[in-house]
Amino acid sequence: MSDIIRRDPRAEWIARNRLHPLHAAMQQTQQHSWMGPNGIVRKNPHGVGFIGPNGIKRIDRSGVQQGTSNKRTAAVAVELPLHQVPAPAFYIAVVPDMVGGRLGSHDRDLLGLAHSLAGSDGAVLAVIFGEHKENNFSTAGVDRLLVIEGDEFDGYAPEQLVQGLRAVDNQFNPRHWLLPDSRTGGGELGRRFAAALGERPATRVWQVKDGQCSGRAGAGQQDLISGLPRLILAAAECAEPVSETRHEALPETLSTSVARSLPRIEDLGPVAVDPAAIAMAEAEFIVSGGNGVKDWDLFHRATIALGATEGASRVAVDDGFMPRNRQVGATGTWVTARVYVAVGISGAIQHLQGIGACDKVVAINMDPGCDMIKRADLSVIGDSAAILQALIQAVENYRNDAKRDAA
Ligand SMILES: Cc1cc2nc3c(=O)[nH]c(=O)nc-3n(C[C@H](O)[C@H](O)[C@H](O)COP(=O)(O)OP(=O)(O)OC[C@H]3O[C@@H](n4cnc5c(N)ncnc54)[C@H](O)[C@@H]3O)c2cc1C
Repeated sequence: MSDIIRRDPRAEWIARNRLHPLHAAMQQTQQHSWMGPNGIVRKNPHGVGFIGPNGIKRIDRSGVQQGTSNKRTAAVAVELPLHQVPAPAFYIAVVPDMVGGRLGSHDRDLLGLAHSLAGSDGAVLAVIFGEHKENNFSTAGVDRLLVIEGDEFDGYAPEQLVQGLRAVDNQFNPRHWLLPDSRTGGGELGRRFAAALGERPATRVWQVKDGQCSGRAGAGQQDLISGLPRLILAAAECAEPVSETRHEALPETLSTSVARSLPRIEDLGPVAVDPAAIAMAEAEFIVSGGNGVKDWDLFHRATIALGATEGASRVAVDDGFMPRNRQVGATGTWVTARVYVAVGISGAIQHLQGIGACDKVVAINMDPGCDMIKRADLSVIGDSAAILQALIQAVENYRNDAKRDAA
């Protein structure tokens, strides 16, 4: 068996959260009775029972004890309760960005907000254009899924997307429309859609409470509080993502075809860019090096092989291994990468501040107890040089296999 340590941060969070409905099921099995070396049964009175939702220890004498009789541990997948809306009284429509074909953390926050607006009678309708690679719509909180296919939606086609949204609006008449107020699509699409509908949206919304929404204004210095409009463009972390329920994600279809708009913008397709030339704040994939990188030539070769933008901790910059404009952190750049790989970086608070908005963090470090590993979604424990070398090898093998298959 592999000795790589695999963690499930969500299961660990539930195991710590006494108020979560699955808390009891996530407790580690405790042995409270065993046979001693002299044949006498030994009992640990402290191992009996479980912690109730109010934090008080409970002992269930019926024998079906939660927490101790259950063999499940934090590593085992648990089925969440199914939330069903058989006949939705209304819809809350969400148009996720789906960067890379998958739901991002901003999209999930939006689905969480949609659920708080839908309550038990409404259904959350996710509207997706074109192909996607997402398999977890049900755990992200999607009650109804509408995938609108067609090559007219490929690439940069905001006018065509607005036509699609108008068709959805005519058919489902959602109570609210939610789009991410992001640079990756939702911000522009939402404003275009609002103009097409002739409605005024709430923008950069970070909180919805008691029928009011608060949005950032004045270059982020002020809050604009207003009544809840139909169209909401929400910021990241506007709500907690759905984590306690499973949803049906029932497929929906559009009854009318979407009219083709006459595009005033021509999309000439993507162009290859040099990852090193991408501004840190806009880079999607960053590999950062810290004091634990001992071979900087190898580090540069690995980032070139992976096609990643390079970043660095302050120590690596201060020591002269990387330029100042590559420093990530409180006194460097605050990055928003979808994948951030930290090589030999301990995870000082000033560095972690700079990667707070990153979607997935991978840590490569010798110290399994360091703060970067606590923050990471995936950790590789070991010497950075050996791991970077193995990464380069894996990329080369992958490319060679692809070339052989193509030949
Ligand atoms: C006011 C102020 C502002 C700051 N701003 C920033 C900032 O913007 N950005 C920033 O990054 N820091 C900032 N710092 C510095 C910060 O506090 C840390 O000192 C710094 O981030 C540590 O960098 P590091 O993790 O690369 O080095 P270290 O803390 O030395 O960590 C090195 C890590 O590498 C691991 N390691 C060692 N050898 C290997 C190996 N062979 N293979 C794999 N792993 C290995 C170690 O286990 C350790 O976890 C600031 C500090 C102050 C006081």
